[in-house]
Amino acid sequence: MTAPAGGEPTGLPPTPMRARAVVDLAALRANVRALRACAPRADLMAVVKSDAYGHGAVPCARAARRAGAAWLGTATPEEALALRAAGDTGRLLCWLWTPGGPWRAAIEADVDVSVSGMWALREVTDAARACGRTARVHLKIDTGLGRNGCPPAAWPELTAAARAAEAEGTVVVAGVWSHFACADEPGHPSIAAQLNVFHEALAEAGRAGLRPEVRHMANSPATLTLPESHFDLVRAGIAVYGVSPSPEIGLPSDFGLRQVMTLSADVALVKQVPSGHGVSYGHHYVTPGETTLALVPVGYADGIPRHASGTGPVLVGGKWRTVAGRVAMDQFVVDLGGDSAQVGDEAVLFGPGDRGEPTVEDWARAAGTIGYEIVTRIGARVPRVHVHEDEH
Ligand SMILES: *Cc1c(COP(=O)(O)O)cnc(C)c1O
Repeated sequence: MTAPAGGEPTGLPPTPMRARAVVDLAALRANVRALRACAPRADLMAVVKSDAYGHGAVPCARAARRAGAAWLGTATPEEALALRAAGDTGRLLCWLWTPGGPWRAAIEADVDVSVSGMWALREVTDAARACGRTARVHLKIDTGLGRNGCPPAAWPELTAAARAAEAEGTVVVAGVWSHFACADEPGHPSIAAQLNVFHEALAEAGRAGLRPEVRHMANSPATLTLPESHFDLVRAGIAVYGVSPSPEIGLPSDFGLRQVMTLSADVALVKQVPSGHGVSYGHHYVTPGETTLALVPVGYADGIPRHASGTGPVLVGGKWRTVAGRVAMDQFVVDLGGDSAQVGDEAVLFGPGDRGEPTVEDWARAAGTIGYEIVTRIGARVPRVHVHEDEH
């Protein structure tokens, strides 16, 4: 790598790197601040599950805290405990539990835990009793997503049991929460329907004697477009990383957000080939004339979607090129047409767009998927280079 993102000093290690995902923590902090401004009456939870959507959980969590994220959120208990091991001490909610927990480790690490059913409430109270601590629980209601969460019919039983556990001192119900199905499709009728069910669930919890500290429902698209869903806390994931939740919501720049990750690789080979030359497995691309090919040394093992074969955009030599033929495990090829390039030139797959490079949204469109999947699947073989760790 010779030209780091934006041409600024990045603190990159001097070792050569085949490819790298540069993670701009100044952009992440600015995104957190923009999202807080978007939901001024609510606290912000930065969702850092799945290694902060592929950006590196610990540095991203630190940057989000610095920018005022009062809460962090993870899916698995392992993710939450790893943040504690790295020294994070703030409020932290973890929501994807299976029998066995580990509940006790989470309670002892002061992690807030989500409960969607009686089995989980029983395991939490047992663990709290065993370690002599009070567990902070967020009861989750399924308001219509049809995924995790307690069905409304079972909600009275769950809230009453949680209230009894509060009286016993094993739990305190710190939160009541839910999750949207279609917040990325503004105006979808399920949005209002889910909000109605959520209001009813809150009323029922109140009748059961629960006084949750935080009520929360909004993900990124709801944080950006649906103020009536903000309640006490918003849970933003993809927007923290400066990627749009969906084309219907708009571009990151429409909300003052900036893409955090720049993915690039060094061109590994440049060669002249004659007209009619097949390129990559299956020969799905055949050169239309004598031309120059450049080899880009990343492939589906690095998270480059194979579905982007023949469609993925890459900036080489100041111009957009298209993946020629199939994406292989470790490499793909672009056709430079009449242009030339040097071995070692930077091929930028995506970035914030400052240099005219494609964005994560462009790759999502090219691969028939969503930006979430593009960034989250960037492989462990690609080093994450965190830049602008310090405020100035
Ligand atoms: C992933 C997740 C979020 C964040 O969603 P984004 O669309 O990335 O903002 C919020 N809440 C829950 C329960 C999640 O699983």
